[in-house]
Amino acid sequence: MTALKKLAVIGDPIDHSLSPKIHKLFAESSGLDISYEAIQVEKKDFVSAVTGLFDSGYEGLNVTLPLKEDAFNYANELSEESKLSGSVNTLWKEGSFICADTTDGRGLVKDLTSKNISLSNLEVVILGAGGSARAIIPSLLKEKPSSITIANRTFSKAEELAKKFSLPDNQLKAVSTSQPLDCSPDLVINTTSAGVLNQEMDLPSNIFSQDTCVYDLSYSREETSFIMRAKNSGSNVCYDGIGMLIQQAALSFEIWTKHKPKTDINKAALL
Ligand code: NDP
Repeated sequence: MTALKKLAVIGDPIDHSLSPKIHKLFAESSGLDISYEAIQVEKKDFVSAVTGLFDSGYEGLNVTLPLKEDAFNYANELSEESKLSGSVNTLWKEGSFICADTTDGRGLVKDLTSKNISLSNLEVVILGAGGSARAIIPSLLKEKPSSITIANRTFSKAEELAKKFSLPDNQLKAVSTSQPLDCSPDLVINTTSAGVLNQEMDLPSNIFSQDTCVYDLSYSREETSFIMRAKNSGSNVCYDGIGMLIQQAALSFEIWTKHKPKTDINKAALL
């Protein structure tokens, strides 16, 4: 019998988190003895809370809003992807060092791959220029899409991200969502929080077509409002972000336990 591994997700608010359910299913299918809690940590208490958790025997933490930047600043060792994206969602201890990684981008790519979507040579439009857009761009770039356009309500934030991530052979474009696109995207990835905030969103008039595949990072039991809008505009291949949520969790689980868990979790059982 292996010793109990104590894991948790921290954030504020945290009640809504599906991570405890997902990791419990991973632990069951892997035959590992794991506890995984959701712990509310206020931003002002980040350092003392995380230090306390590691000191009291927690071996791994997921970090969610609004603490990702605090985690980035707290870690001693950052993965290449964390450094590139400026984002952290996974912490663990190695000796006296706190190590950090971000699994969001790889989780998204894994989910797209499982849906037979290869990013290579695709024209990709990312809607939104917040934390999740920043977290996924390095992983998307690795897959060599033919172009990435960042479309955001606040143009200056799209411009900032495009500048940060442009490579000599792949210049990212920034546009405002109030303007029509000058490309025909193969894949539109919605990273905005408009859906969870229950807000209307301006979209470029020509963003959806029959040939556009749509991926919404948000998820809900029913179809998300973004996917409904895409389908009403003729895009029929649409996915929500539940697969990404499961895949990014699986990558964290693997970092902590060295086991690849089964990811065939039923969405209805989770939501
Ligand atoms: P941020 O707050 O960092 O960014 C939000 C973005 O949404 C900004 O670009 C903002 O634009 C835009 N936005 C917000 N409201 C509107 C609106 N009404 N109209 C147009 N644009 C709007 O959030 P995150 O990037 O961290 O998270 C975004 C979403 O992604 C959340 O819903 C989260 O649940 C989901 N997510 C899902 C994951 C998964 O595993 N499936 C993983 C990570 C996130 P502006 O700059 O103009 O303010």
